[in-house]
Amino acid sequence: MRIAVGQCWQETNTFNPQVTRWSDFEAMGIAYGDEVVERYGQTGELSGFLEEFRKLQPQAEYPGLARFGCWPSGSIEAGTWKRIKETFVERLQAVGKVDGVYLTLHGALCAEDDPDVTGTLLKLTRDVVGPDIPVVGSLDLHANITLQMMQSADVLSGYHTSPHVDGPQTAARAARALNWLLSSGKKPTTLVRKLPMITAAESHNTFVGPPAPLYRRLEELERHPDVLSACLYMAMPWYDQPELGWTYTLTTKSGSPEWQKVIDDIAKDAWNLRHVMEDVERFAPDKVVARALTVSGKPVVVGDGADATNSGSTGDSTSLVIEFLKQPIPGGALSFMIDRNAVAAAYAAGEGNTFDAQIGGRLAAYSPPVRFQGRVEKLLDMKWILSGHICNNLPIDMGRGAVVRSGDVTLVLCERSGPGSSPKLYECAGLDPRNFKIVVAKSPAGFRADYSPFAADIILADCPGPAAAHWASLKFEQVNRPLFPFDNVASPDVEWCRNASMG
Ligand SMILES: [Zn+2]
Repeated sequence: MRIAVGQCWQETNTFNPQVTRWSDFEAMGIAYGDEVVERYGQTGELSGFLEEFRKLQPQAEYPGLARFGCWPSGSIEAGTWKRIKETFVERLQAVGKVDGVYLTLHGALCAEDDPDVTGTLLKLTRDVVGPDIPVVGSLDLHANITLQMMQSADVLSGYHTSPHVDGPQTAARAARALNWLLSSGKKPTTLVRKLPMITAAESHNTFVGPPAPLYRRLEELERHPDVLSACLYMAMPWYDQPELGWTYTLTTKSGSPEWQKVIDDIAKDAWNLRHVMEDVERFAPDKVVARALTVSGKPVVVGDGADATNSGSTGDSTSLVIEFLKQPIPGGALSFMIDRNAVAAAYAAGEGNTFDAQIGGRLAAYSPPVRFQGRVEKLLDMKWILSGHICNNLPIDMGRGAVVRSGDVTLVLCERSGPGSSPKLYECAGLDPRNFKIVVAKSPAGFRADYSPFAADIILADCPGPAAAHWASLKFEQVNRPLFPFDNVASPDVEWCRNASMG
């Protein structure tokens, strides 16, 4: 038995003006053919899929197609997307006869010329292998589900957790679904309900947040022998594309009409959460500092969702740094910034020497550059392995880096974006976030997985940026309307959602 495997993963923030280029994929690692399993078989969803499928079908082989992974950022440049598409099609044609295909995907990925990269890739895959070969995939909980995706794949399996800590388990579910498709020779039935809503990412917590009970129900549903996949996708909200909205999907073996009521009930309960999901307490930068300084103990972890590199923001906002520089912060403040020029300035100055350069505010017009005068403490290579929220064993390369300090403010400067949710970013720079009074995580919610165990307190910041929580501050032009919270939508049963639903 031969199962072709591949990956195309990135989360796109359409409000980040920095397009994603081939070199950005190269920085995180492109692999072809056998390299896909050799290099990434122990990483994230692919590790979970292989481990489970090897148990089910010990004789199976896994010809690799290609692996394209890139840290969340702006839309993929059209020429890069064309090369990625061509690569997948060529590899799929060259690999010979396969019995099934597994793709590890995100689901909120768009290109300059394609609002639905994931759906297009699944459609191209389907076109090559034909209608009978099973195609399955795994998706992030923030996937923006499109009809094209659901019609092209047999089964898509999405995370049940946010923070995302069940990538391998999600892929294992896809593996079990694939095994059923292969052994039964049958096709499953999928019901899809699109809801006309997006909601604050800080509330996307499936453990203690408002949607937690819905995810417990999904887990219970997936224990039913007839269910292959039950998912609730809360959608990447900074994604100005037509079918943007929450989506509930249920894939069953039997296609029994009884499932209709189940999906309608859960979709109704999800819809009823929309107002409470938007009710989030955030603080302006001056209030963040004032509040943090009243907390006893350290660190106070500040979630800067608007500049969340985990949500595809630029990671170069100066909103908080400007505030930190205004006053003494006993215990110190620690943040990071994506700024290639500032790194070059640090390298030009050299370790131990004076640093005096404009930093940040260049990649998107949401905050001004700021003059940072201090000392270069350290020059580094920002290569490390991410395990925790989002992935396990994921090689990260944020390029060259530097630690610069001005008074009580310490910054890690990096050439390229990376996981703003992880304390390992600071640890790889030789800094222990536990030793600072204030530590910035550039993530709206996922950072809690790795910071909560030692944070003295957590504060959510209210800043401008490509991933800002104030929807009105961003220009949504492509989304279907009506859409909560832009419109006063009385019922989820609106025309465009009916058209975007299945079953
Ligand atoms: Zn996500």
